[in-house]
Amino acid sequence: DAIDAGWNFDNSYARLPKSFFTSLNPTPVRSPKLIVLNDPLARSLGLNVQALQSDDSVAVFAGNQIPEGAFPLAQAYAGHQFGHFNMLGDGRAHLIGEQITPQGERFDIQLKGSGRTPYSRGGDGRAALGPMLREYIISEAMHALGIPTTRSLAVVTTGEPVYRETELQGAILTRVAASHMRVATFQYVANWRTVEELRNLADYTINRHYSDIEADENRYLSLLQEMIKRQAALIAKWQHVGFIHGVMNTDNMTISGETIDYGPCAFMDVYDPDTVFSSIDRQGRYAYGNQPIIGGWNLARFAETLLPLLHENEEQAIELAQTAISDYNAIYQSSWLTGMRAKLGIFNEEPKDVSLIEDLLKIMQKYRADFTNTFRSLTIDKLEDTALYGTPEIAEWYELWQARLGRQQESKSTSQQLMRNSNPAVIPRNHKVEEALEAAVKQGDYSVMERLLDVLSRPFEHSPVQEEYCTLPAPSDRPYRTFCGT
Ligand code: AMP
Ligand code: MG
Ligand code: MG
Repeated sequence: DAIDAGWNFDNSYARLPKSFFTSLNPTPVRSPKLIVLNDPLARSLGLNVQALQSDDSVAVFAGNQIPEGAFPLAQAYAGHQFGHFNMLGDGRAHLIGEQITPQGERFDIQLKGSGRTPYSRGGDGRAALGPMLREYIISEAMHALGIPTTRSLAVVTTGEPVYRETELQGAILTRVAASHMRVATFQYVANWRTVEELRNLADYTINRHYSDIEADENRYLSLLQEMIKRQAALIAKWQHVGFIHGVMNTDNMTISGETIDYGPCAFMDVYDPDTVFSSIDRQGRYAYGNQPIIGGWNLARFAETLLPLLHENEEQAIELAQTAISDYNAIYQSSWLTGMRAKLGIFNEEPKDVSLIEDLLKIMQKYRADFTNTFRSLTIDKLEDTALYGTPEIAEWYELWQARLGRQQESKSTSQQLMRNSNPAVIPRNHKVEEALEAAVKQGDYSVMERLLDVLSRPFEHSPVQEEYCTLPAPSDRPYRTFCGT
C-alpha cells in the first residue's frame, strides 16, 4: 500500500462556537496536477515528501479528497477594507485542519482557491495559477528573510479555467499558518456575537498564540499589548526590506503576527516613501511610508473589539485601550530603529542615530537610489555601484557614519558581519518574479521559478550566481502595477 503522508490533524478551531465558521468541504476539481511542493516545509510539518506526490495526496491539495482526521471549514470574519466595514470570511478558502508536527507545534493547513463558501459574496471561490505561484514565491522569500509569515506548501492546477479579464488556469495554494485568525475575526465576533463568545475567542487566542500571558491579572489587556508589540515588530521588518503589503485591511492582519495575504504586495526598488504598487490603492493608503500608521489604525480597531473584556466599566476600558494604543508609536519606532542600526552595523545607541539614518534615506530618495542595493553596497564597501556615488551629500554622510562606527567597541569586521546578516543581497524583485511567472504560466516552464526560489532561499549570501538577481529592471515608462485577489 501507499506510504502514509503523515497528516496528523487536531481541529481546535472546529470546537469553537459554531457561529465562528461554516463547516463544509472544498468543491472538487476536474484534473488536479501538482506544480510545486515545498519539501523542507513538508518535512518540518512531519509530512512525507514522497507520499505527498502521490495521486491521493495531490487529490488532498486539490480538495478532492479529505484526509483522515481533517475537518474542513470556512472561517467567518468582518473587517475594514480601505476604511469601510464589510462582512467577509473565507470566500475561496477552506481550513482543512490543524497539523500537529512531530515537535508538537500546531499549524493551520488551508486550501486557497478551493471553491465557493457562504462568504463568497459575488466571487467564484477560485484562484488563478499566476497569483498563487506569486504568493508561493513571495511568502517563501519573506520566510527566508526572517520575517514572520504564512508559508506555502504546494500549488496544484485544477484543470479548470477561471474567468477574470481573460480565461486563466485555475490553481489551488496550500497555505500553512500559525493560524488564520485576523483582527477581522475579532471584529466579526465583537460586532455580531455575544460577549461570552468574544471571551471564548480571546481565551482561545491567548492559549494558542500568547500562552505566557495566560496567568496575567488582566490577560485581555496583555493580549492587546502583546499584539501591538508583534505587529510593530512585523511592520518594522517590512520597512527594513522595502516590503509593501499593498492591502493592509483589517482582515489581512493576523493575530499571530505573521504576514498574510500576498495579493498586490511588492518590494520597493528605488527608495521613495510614497511607493505604491497596487492598482486599486489610488489614495496611497497602503504606501510604503504609510504602513506603520495603518498598522496603528488597524490595532485601534482590534482594541475596540476587546473593550467589553478589558474592564467592566466602559470608560475605564476605553482608557486602558487608549493607553495601550498610544504606546504603539514608540514601540514601532524602537523596533524600526533597532533594525536600522543593524543595517548600518551599529551596536550601541546614540541619540543622533535617528538623524544619521534619516539623512541617508533622504539622500537615497533625492538620488533615486535602489533601497536594497544601497544597503548591500554599504555592507560590501561598493558604494561606487550606487546612484549616490560622487554626490557631496553621501561623501559627508559617509564620514559621519565611519566616525559613528568608531564610537563602539565592536571591530569593523564584527560590524560588517552584522550588516551582512541584516541587508539581503536578493529580494524578490518585481521583474524577476514576473519573468518566473511568465515562463511558468505561459510556457509551463517551471525552471525559471525554481532557480528564483533557490536564490531567494539564501537572501543574505552573496555570490556570482546571485548577481543576476540583484540587477535593476530596465527603465520603463509604465510603473509596475499589481492586482488584487485574482
Ligand atoms: P482579499 O482582498 O484577498 O483580502 O479578499 C477579501 C475577501 O474577498 C475575502 O473574504 C476573500 O475570501 C474574498 N475573495 C477574494 N477573491 C475571491 C473569489 N474569487 N471568490 C470568492 N471570494 C473571494
Ligand atoms: Mg485577505
Ligand atoms: Mg487576497
